[in-house]
Amino acid sequence: MKFSTDGLVIREQIIKEQDKLVTVLTRSNGIVRAFAHGAKSIKSSKSAATGLLTYSRFSFYSGRDRYIIDDAVAQEVFIALRKDVEKLALAQYFCELLINLAPEGESAEEYLRLTLNCLHFLCKGERDNDRLKSLFEFRILSMAGYMPNLICCDSCAVYEHDEMYFLPNMGVLVCGDCIGSYKERKICTGLGVTAAMRHCVYAEFQRLFAFSLSENSLPVLSQASEEYLINQLGKRLQTLDFYKQMRGVC
Ligand SMILES: [Zn+2]
Repeated sequence: MKFSTDGLVIREQIIKEQDKLVTVLTRSNGIVRAFAHGAKSIKSSKSAATGLLTYSRFSFYSGRDRYIIDDAVAQEVFIALRKDVEKLALAQYFCELLINLAPEGESAEEYLRLTLNCLHFLCKGERDNDRLKSLFEFRILSMAGYMPNLICCDSCAVYEHDEMYFLPNMGVLVCGDCIGSYKERKICTGLGVTAAMRHCVYAEFQRLFAFSLSENSLPVLSQASEEYLINQLGKRLQTLDFYKQMRGVC
């Protein structure tokens, strides 16, 4: 069987001298793991098109028990990521999240759209990296079936309150009047961060990247999305720690 689709290379492993195994987030078939024969050769046209964080047009055929890349043509290489270690580390974190959360064998259109847009904004550098990180974390969890409930207070259903808390272990909001009866870990989010969290989860895609948040509030948003994600995944990804190290030294 042979099929063509576009996709982003999210992992690259060298198998033999000239061959590699790549993991691709494809538009039509979700995560696909495929062999690229001869792709390490500089002369191979497949070489650039199967590099990590390259968005390409692929032709796959399925062998007896594996996919093989028949042809690949690079469409976008996100060159700016390769010149900035902090951005590259964040992009690699996005890739690891996709490997953990994106579907296999079915369309991954919205995952690909979210990722390509995040990489685009990451390259342009107009938005703080941590803002893109929180947006990606909340959004990918919501797509994968782990949407937090940020509509109103979990107890009294009030929509807005001067004092709002996010409970990262439960994925709910609780207002200042009700928080006394909750013993779980809580993060004080206030009006600004609460609105930003709601935006990340509920905004229509066309408006997703247009939200503002004060410099002081950004670490709170980052903490909230990160703790919620670690709780839902049940593990902490190594690429997150690497990104934090790079952010610390940059
Ligand atoms: Zn309440």
